[in-house]
Amino acid sequence: MNPSMKQIMVVGGGISGLCAAVDLARLGVAVVLVENTGSLGGHAAQLSCKATDRCVACGACMVAEKIRRATDDANIRVYLNAGIDKVDRQTRFEVTLKQDRQIQRIKVDAVLMASGFAPFDPANKPYGYGRFENVMTTLELDRMLRKSGTVKRPSDAQFPRNMAFIQCVGSRDATLGHLWCSKICCGAALRMARCIQSRQPGVEATFFYIDVQNFGKNFQTYYADTQQQVRMIRSIPADVIKTADDRLKLSYFDPDTQAYREAVFDMAILSIGLMPSESTRNLAAMLNIDWAGFGYARKETVALPDGVFAAGAALEPMSIAESVLSAGKAAGDIFHYLETASQNSMAK
Ligand SMILES: Cc1cc2nc3c(=O)[nH]c(=O)nc-3n(C[C@H](O)[C@H](O)[C@H](O)COP(=O)(O)OP(=O)(O)OC[C@H]3O[C@@H](n4cnc5c(N)ncnc54)[C@H](O)[C@@H]3O)c2cc1C
Ligand code: SF4
Ligand code: SF4
Repeated sequence: MNPSMKQIMVVGGGISGLCAAVDLARLGVAVVLVENTGSLGGHAAQLSCKATDRCVACGACMVAEKIRRATDDANIRVYLNAGIDKVDRQTRFEVTLKQDRQIQRIKVDAVLMASGFAPFDPANKPYGYGRFENVMTTLELDRMLRKSGTVKRPSDAQFPRNMAFIQCVGSRDATLGHLWCSKICCGAALRMARCIQSRQPGVEATFFYIDVQNFGKNFQTYYADTQQQVRMIRSIPADVIKTADDRLKLSYFDPDTQAYREAVFDMAILSIGLMPSESTRNLAAMLNIDWAGFGYARKETVALPDGVFAAGAALEPMSIAESVLSAGKAAGDIFHYLETASQNSMAK
């Protein structure tokens, strides 16, 4: 049996799962792609194009092409609204799949975990999220930009005149035990601020941060230019309070004057971080993998059982471009694993 006669399962239809599925299908491997929501693309499919007068390489448009290729490929069978109930391991994996109350058992030779991340829920942070309508997460802002192209205040549908971006919400937070940097949120928020300014001239953006992560190609030039357009304050606000005229007052320690200050904004945007997901934890348990390895706080590479692979933001915070690379590597490793398994079975 050669690798092209084998079947593998990819769990998660985000950019990582799609890329791995497309790469393996191209090599002739039959792929069962399982996605537990009703559509492919994962979080990347919710992001908007942030181009200003030029492309800013956010990567969001990569996903549409991968969805098209995966759905057109005869070697890829897609199961939407489907989840894994159980995995039994003999020589092959027997996966119990649940879709629309129907149960199926599918035998596969390898499993790829591409189950992604969970966005941080900021409800318990002191920023009024869930209580003040004009406090939104970056993911919600991205969806608004994708849907309507512009930003309006949810409370009164007016265009904002000034917006605050608060960084590191849920990441780099010792009080939560989340010591990791989510890596993508500095770039995502700055690109969003610049994109809004280009579509809604006159909007003032203020960026509250700890430090700014390098976010890829041309970072130095892009960042130098951004500092001319966005007011940068190296401080994380203590809290957000709603004013009598439905605006938002932020208090923060000003590093320049070494004093506490207050500033009032029309909207506050929380740069939520990438968290390890419950779904990945459950999947890891079914595959007999030590969950702690997928906790993002790990120091060493996760040890995976034979035939089990992982890619993308299930492993650690990563961008779309990094997820594509991670998926490509996983696809290569899986193909090599299938090839070796075929050679071993032929030698017997
Ligand atoms: C606000 C925000 C802005 C961002 N902006 C950018 C940006 O500008 N540029 C950039 O490069 N990156 C950005 N990112 C990061 C980007 O979203 C990730 O790099 C990318 O989504 C990772 O892809 P993934 O496939 O690994 O995971 P995900 O996108 O999380 O996809 C995982 C998929 O697996 C499915 N799934 C999970 N568990 C199961 C299961 N048990 N069974 C079946 N299916 C399952 C999920 O439903 C989902 O479809 C941003 C992230 C956020 C939160
Ligand atoms: S990479 Fe981002 S900014 Fe560039 S075209 Fe694609 S979606 Fe738009
Ligand atoms: S990428 Fe920026 S906002 Fe996100 S956790 Fe790292 S430093 Fe904070």
